[in-house]
Amino acid sequence: MLTVDLDAIADNWRLLRRLCGRTECGAVVKADGYGLGAAPVARTLSAAGCRRFFVATIEEGIALRKALPGDRVIYVLDGPMGRGCEALLDRHALIPVLNCPEDVAGWAAHARANGGRRAILALDTGMARLGHSPAEARALAADPARLSGIALDFVMSHLACGEDRANPMNEAQRRLFDELRTLLPPAPASFANSAGVFLGGGYLYDLARPGAALYGVSRSTGALTSLRQVVVLKGKILQVRLIDSDSPVGYGATGRVPSGACLATVAVGYADGYFRALSNRGHGYAGGVRVPIVGRVSMDLVTFDISAVPAGTVRPGDEIELIGDRHTVDDLAEEAGTIGYEVLTSLGRRYRRDYIGGTPAEDRT
Ligand SMILES: *Cc1c(COP(=O)(O)O)cnc(C)c1O
Repeated sequence: MLTVDLDAIADNWRLLRRLCGRTECGAVVKADGYGLGAAPVARTLSAAGCRRFFVATIEEGIALRKALPGDRVIYVLDGPMGRGCEALLDRHALIPVLNCPEDVAGWAAHARANGGRRAILALDTGMARLGHSPAEARALAADPARLSGIALDFVMSHLACGEDRANPMNEAQRRLFDELRTLLPPAPASFANSAGVFLGGGYLYDLARPGAALYGVSRSTGALTSLRQVVVLKGKILQVRLIDSDSPVGYGATGRVPSGACLATVAVGYADGYFRALSNRGHGYAGGVRVPIVGRVSMDLVTFDISAVPAGTVRPGDEIELIGDRHTVDDLAEEAGTIGYEVLTSLGRRYRRDYIGGTPAEDRT
């Protein structure tokens, strides 16, 4: 069972907003709110005062539009995604991020034919991923009529190494962003993701776009202050077994327990995003005791060695805590050799999501 603490998300947003000072603090709720439910997360943050939201795809934007009051702004990071999507963006009041000259040409033509449209212009300052390259940005700056009809809400870029404060990439990206921005028609600027907010100072500009930190990811966002944990994940114990002779455990017999060990088999597996990489490496908490995974994580099941738990105190039907205050999203990520972002966005559809606090239900007041 997956419990999502919406009040903790709102508190994390308020903490980031405080760090933002006079910079507006938006929220990134792509990938269904980093796996936790974009609609309840966004409704909660909207009630807390957040006015600008980012999703990755138009489909995510359409779903989010239904959950938010009409005055909340929704930006689509992937942009207009080719011809024909302009009407869809308009119909659902979604504003695209323009990532390339083709995006600008298409959206500008649409804007001129319809009395003007808003957009964000994205510049790539060092990721070679999305956004206008420096050469494309300079070409656009030399021919600003290509933007006519478009009102730029923001010019934006994205940090590659923001969680590493000492990385010279951060300053190099910021300098390139400033250089390109001054060539372009004046517009507010947006640069900082979660890590950028923690960098602070000159990285904040006019609008911050934090995602992961809202959801309690600290380790890969360079968080300086402690964030509230948002997720509690518990797995149900199906079987408890006392081992009466040395025994291999699980597929491939990669785990082994001695006679006298006690195992608990839990109904969670890699099909739920409980990574196979946790095999013989991950941990949980049973009856308040830290217990290791033994053997391979299989599709629907994982086995913990609960020998350290006083006999008889943990029974079938009880739960083992897989993620919580004692064993955070970051801890699990480290055991699995990944980052908190991937742990969250992999949380399985089979988990029932229970919400605490916040504004989980339809409420447009
Ligand atoms: C995902 C994303 C963010 C949010 O990043 P976090 O590291 O989760 O805070 C901000 N901006 C862009 C362009 C993104 O793709």
